[in-house]
Amino acid sequence: MSQSASFIPTRAAALARLEEFLSVAGRYAADRNYVREGHTNVSRLSPWVQKRLLLESEVVAAARARWSFPAVEKFVQEVYWRTYWKGWLEQRPAAWSRWQECVPRLRASLHAEQLLALEAALAGKTGIAGFDAWAQELVATGYLHNHARMWFASIWIFTFRLPWELGAAFFMEHLLDGDVASNTLSWRWVAGLQTPGKTYVARADNIAFYTDGQHAPEAGQLASAQIAIKEEPLPKVALWTEDAAQVTSLVGYERLGLWLHAEDLAVATGELAGLKIHAVNAAWPKGIVERAGWSEKVAAWTQAAVRDGATQAGRHFGAEVSLEETSNLPVSLVEWAKQNRLQAVVAYRPFVGSWLAEALALEAALSAAGIPLIWRRRAWDAELFPHATRGYFPFWERIKSFG
Ligand SMILES: Cc1cc2nc3c(=O)[nH]c(=O)nc-3n(C[C@H](O)[C@H](O)[C@H](O)COP(=O)(O)OP(=O)(O)OC[C@H]3O[C@@H](n4cnc5c(N)ncnc54)[C@H](O)[C@@H]3O)c2cc1C
Repeated sequence: MSQSASFIPTRAAALARLEEFLSVAGRYAADRNYVREGHTNVSRLSPWVQKRLLLESEVVAAARARWSFPAVEKFVQEVYWRTYWKGWLEQRPAAWSRWQECVPRLRASLHAEQLLALEAALAGKTGIAGFDAWAQELVATGYLHNHARMWFASIWIFTFRLPWELGAAFFMEHLLDGDVASNTLSWRWVAGLQTPGKTYVARADNIAFYTDGQHAPEAGQLASAQIAIKEEPLPKVALWTEDAAQVTSLVGYERLGLWLHAEDLAVATGELAGLKIHAVNAAWPKGIVERAGWSEKVAAWTQAAVRDGATQAGRHFGAEVSLEETSNLPVSLVEWAKQNRLQAVVAYRPFVGSWLAEALALEAALSAAGIPLIWRRRAWDAELFPHATRGYFPFWERIKSFG
């Protein structure tokens, strides 16, 4: 079975992969940095976790139930990295909006030599062992091991001297787990923007060692020095929080609708699970594919994941599910809400990124039709995000005793 075939966009496949990984989770700390065929030493759960077909809380609980905490601490820490990045970006959304805004401008302004370097990098034809294989693996499978992502980003930025923003766009185009927080902020971390003055410079001997010699670039092929990348400071904004009165009002609605989107698909578990839902809408906003910059494969995977989440939500709530494709999500949802005579619609609030842009347009249209859209945020996020203010390790120290 090819690696991409093993990423089946269903919760059942996620649970099966989690179960398989649990048997080796205790060896994760020792093995995780090796980049090996099949990537059996890491969980490969990220595409499902990113769509929340599988929850971070479920992954952590399963690992801790099977192993002692010291045995899986490193793995648990990695799961929380995702939460840390998301909480950090919620408080500095300009890190995403600036990136999104500059990608087309940067693409248009590359000079001839950079264009050649870009074409070679995207096609995996640079002649640098490892880099070329990872470029091809990413496009073919939609997945890359974390260490390969770090080496790839470093070579992109410091050896080819290509803008990090275009590398991040290449990843967002092809990763099945593409996540605006983890991706944008990890690229910024490699480039030295997250921890000013601290870059990640890939070394040839490190690549050869952690690929068991499969990829052995010559030391002279890789840049050994960093370049200083500067930016204007990012403004900090207050975290969005739930409206307690609206949340309390949810149980009073006789006809409540649920909007389902690809940032939180396991609605049968958690804050929304106990609500009485009359109808579920998981319409697919066709324009998001271009706005988010996804390849056809990522778009198809994401849409199939939404379908799976919607099927389960329909079954859980005993509600009819609408799955239409639409070029105008706000108009379609208002129509659906009216047809179902809904008094209100509830949804998990998407995080900073393309789905939030859809969500805000939707909220405005429903509000204009006199139908409130009530946002929820999982307790996991609400409790942890406020701690993502400085670096990861202060975050980890504060939150590791939670739950
Ligand atoms: C340049 C770059 C870009 C990245 N882009 C993304 C992205 O778009 N989406 C994404 O989910 N991750 C991204 N990561 C983080 C990390 O590489 C992936 O989460 C991880 O490789 C996924 O594989 P896995 O599920 O086998 O991870 P495991 O090692 O098995 O980890 C378990 C889970 O923890 C989380 N996790 C692990 N490491 C990290 C990390 N460093 N940052 C955030 N979460 C982590 C993921 O949810 C993962 O599924 C990026 C890292 C780099 C260096």
